[in-house]
Amino acid sequence: SLLAAEKHLALNALISVQSRPELFSQVQASQERISAGESKSPIDGQLIAVKDNICTTDFPTTCASKLLEQYISPFDATVVRKAKEAGAVIMGKTNMDEFGMGSHSMYSHFGSVMQPAEDGQPARSAGGSSGGSAVAVATGMCHAALGTDTGGSVRLPAAYCGVVGFKPSYGMLSRWGVIAYANSLDTVGILGRRISSVQKLYDAINGYDDNDPTSITPQTRERVQDRLSRNRRRGQGLTIGYPEEFNLVELDDSVRNTWEKTLAHLNLQSHKVVPVSLPHTKHALSAYYVLAPAEASSNLAKYDGVRYGYRDPADRLQDGLLFSPTRANFGAEVRRRIIAGAYSLSSEAIDNYFLKAQSARRIIQRDFSNVFAQPNYLITDTPEEGRGGEGVDVLIAPCALSKAPFLEDVKMQKSPLDSYVNDVLTVPASLAGIPAICLPVMHGENDSVGMQVMAQYGDEETMWEVAKLIE
Ligand code: GLN
Repeated sequence: SLLAAEKHLALNALISVQSRPELFSQVQASQERISAGESKSPIDGQLIAVKDNICTTDFPTTCASKLLEQYISPFDATVVRKAKEAGAVIMGKTNMDEFGMGSHSMYSHFGSVMQPAEDGQPARSAGGSSGGSAVAVATGMCHAALGTDTGGSVRLPAAYCGVVGFKPSYGMLSRWGVIAYANSLDTVGILGRRISSVQKLYDAINGYDDNDPTSITPQTRERVQDRLSRNRRRGQGLTIGYPEEFNLVELDDSVRNTWEKTLAHLNLQSHKVVPVSLPHTKHALSAYYVLAPAEASSNLAKYDGVRYGYRDPADRLQDGLLFSPTRANFGAEVRRRIIAGAYSLSSEAIDNYFLKAQSARRIIQRDFSNVFAQPNYLITDTPEEGRGGEGVDVLIAPCALSKAPFLEDVKMQKSPLDSYVNDVLTVPASLAGIPAICLPVMHGENDSVGMQVMAQYGDEETMWEVAKLIE
């Protein structure tokens, strides 16, 4: 893994890398534990990369922003602490879009992430915003990597780089120490080359955390799991839905064909495959791009350079401006989001934008509950509201409209909206808070297409089961 990391440094997937002696001593210590039969967990000794918006004491946590270029957190994020306690070795911090805002990992203070180029071709986009984590996994620099997924930032890079990317149900993995982009949507996600490596890391870091006010409590976890398991259809004969609204005209033929092939494959294994309708899907993208920037404008207000982070010299002048030159050091995309968010929260626009987007979000969540066999037990406790024998156990849809575009083509795009469109297939699950996993499905000899399996809130178990049928 270390050789892979050195070989691929030019891909710019890493912002910080652990020193060679430190890595060796940690891996050696773990090997000694394992040979003495005292392994801490199934991930003991594994190299894990961590997205640079997740706090670590051993490295700076920059969010790929000039404003946090030198920032070192005084504590580890809970997910990092738990991974370390399980024996994982944090090998470095991964490059990303500044504060998680972007779909190509190009909006970084440290420069674009790149995928390894195929023969004679220019580099392709790694996807964003966890593009560094996806490239680190795809090139073998680490066993698995942590990312964050607010509107698709783990799943889109996974689809573009041909690896597995998992976004858990909202509230499962602690957000304590994860620098907020849009709190109500932010989740920690995991990337790996195989489902098993993703699942092992998830098991090691999953759980309630008192420090995160939106972490799901043990009682609620138990109640949700208890209800789900009472009504779960097991083994053979699952019902698998494909949402018709995801069949967009913009889908590349390779993506549509792979989607059909995946469904046919499941049908052959005697699972029922049915079309379903999520009628409000068309509002998901606009709702997301109102809500996420609104929350971001509030979250990013604290970066004024006064207490920590970068401070522009002009702000220090006597009688100078307090912090506007400092805040001009955000990248253009971040500033665009702050302005858009501040506008949609303003008294002039809140009714027509922010509140409408909140309602759209609820309706989109309801769309999902209308097609799943199981109800959303976070919201309701009455199994009768579920559809019993009717309804689907999981949904399967593509994660991206096409394969990864060339970076040079992305740079030529005229409007930021051209990038926002890439999130159209991932934001519905984010708005609904449900689990989704993106898997590479082979298309032709060397290409893969990212397919996502989505399940009802808390039903990771069914999601894993179906994911393994596809892998
Ligand atoms: N591309 C989306 C955005 O820019 C998703 C980002 C994310 O999930 N962090 O907001």
